[in-house]
Amino acid sequence: MNLIFEKSVEGRKTSILPACDVEICLPASPKRESLAKLPELGEIDIERHYTKLAQRAHGVNSGFYPLGSCTMKYNPKISEKIASLDCFNDIHPLQPEKTVKGCKRVLENAKEYLCEITGMDAMSLQPAAGAHGELAGMLVIKAYHLDKGDKLRNEIIIPDSAHGTNPASAVMAGFEIVNIKSDKNGMVDIVDLKEHLSEKTAGLMLTNPNTLGIFDENILKITKMVHEAGGLCYYDGANLNAIMGIARPGDMGFDVTHLNLHKTFSTPHGGGGPGSGPCGCKAFLKDYLPMSGDNRSIGRVMGFYGNFLVILKALIYMMIIGADGIKDVGENAVLNANYMKFKLKDILPVAYDTPSMHEFVLSLEELKEKTGVSALDFSKALLDHGMHPPTMYFPLIVHEALMIEPTETESKETIDEAIKTFKELVSIAEKTPEIIFNSPITTPVGRLDEVLAARKAILRHEFES
Ligand SMILES: *Cc1c(COP(=O)(O)O)cnc(C)c1O
Repeated sequence: MNLIFEKSVEGRKTSILPACDVEICLPASPKRESLAKLPELGEIDIERHYTKLAQRAHGVNSGFYPLGSCTMKYNPKISEKIASLDCFNDIHPLQPEKTVKGCKRVLENAKEYLCEITGMDAMSLQPAAGAHGELAGMLVIKAYHLDKGDKLRNEIIIPDSAHGTNPASAVMAGFEIVNIKSDKNGMVDIVDLKEHLSEKTAGLMLTNPNTLGIFDENILKITKMVHEAGGLCYYDGANLNAIMGIARPGDMGFDVTHLNLHKTFSTPHGGGGPGSGPCGCKAFLKDYLPMSGDNRSIGRVMGFYGNFLVILKALIYMMIIGADGIKDVGENAVLNANYMKFKLKDILPVAYDTPSMHEFVLSLEELKEKTGVSALDFSKALLDHGMHPPTMYFPLIVHEALMIEPTETESKETIDEAIKTFKELVSIAEKTPEIIFNSPITTPVGRLDEVLAARKAILRHEFES
């Protein structure tokens, strides 16, 4: 498929823009010397270009999307409809505050609900993604220790099952990472945790249920141990879907958290945003939050609320499903995952047979030894069956991992169909693995040379001069 730049024809245009009715008074210096090389196309060609691109991608609206850890649930269309109203869409970040009172109320209500759901006392809606919320939370923890004069505390403890953004955010905030092991049930190894706690501990970063889909039953003990050592507890809220309305990080002993509104609260995600990663905390930390109004605040982490509509859609979602619905989400997400796990575990071993929450991890290590079919091959074959593959090779502690998160919005029929496909593929792998090595064959592009793409990344169009 050609790039839109390659389809450009000089002088071709569409006339959908109204004439400019303001005087543009730029000084000479920021003006560009030559015209920007923008593609020139007719409206129908633009429409077809983007329609074709959309058809080549797999989205939640195209088929089952059990991408573990990403909570690819359905995005209700009513939220899109409300979010497209002029009163929400036509606001400007610099217009007087008194003219956007309704929008401010949206933000305030969202904060209030999110505090209630997480058991936190204060929330900042500034961060624009989960990882961004983690960074804000880590900076809050740092500011707290420094404010107390506790300069030694520069270590963040992170279990080996953690999402990669956890250590990355802690390092960006200037901390050192201390890795601890998981035990044979996939939970935090208490003995290892104890050994690593010290007067240098700034905090612990944990997601619960963790990335294996396992709820750590020692959570109260773990947060208590960290507090007794003088550290704070950070809750990575990306997996909140499993427990919302049932258990709250604030009650588990966590002091700071982020949420992924684009996962748990059903706003569209993928393709780089926009997202929303609110950062919440207990009352004793609220002054450190971004833009708290106190001089101990970590400051701004975003210029403007460019992701306002994401927060609005999350609020609409919460208002539509209500408190009971929030609880149903968690229960059904867990039910769907356990149903699928139960039906699959005889043909593909689960990495940990501890009861799981909203997601579970299969290991294809045995299948690979027997047939040569790896988790990657298996995923490519799933594409031919109209399904987005699960998350592969994550968490890192499981070999040939496939991490499956069906979410609560999938029907039993869809899940049964997926189970059937998994079974069929295992049987094909055992009889004629070549079919799997050659897949996908029905997708717009076949197997990509991932090594070449990483080594020789072409990220911009080179114009013929
Ligand atoms: C998705 C995810 C994150 C990061 O969130 P982004 O919004 O992608 O930045 C962090 N932790 C876990 C467990 C996640 O699943």
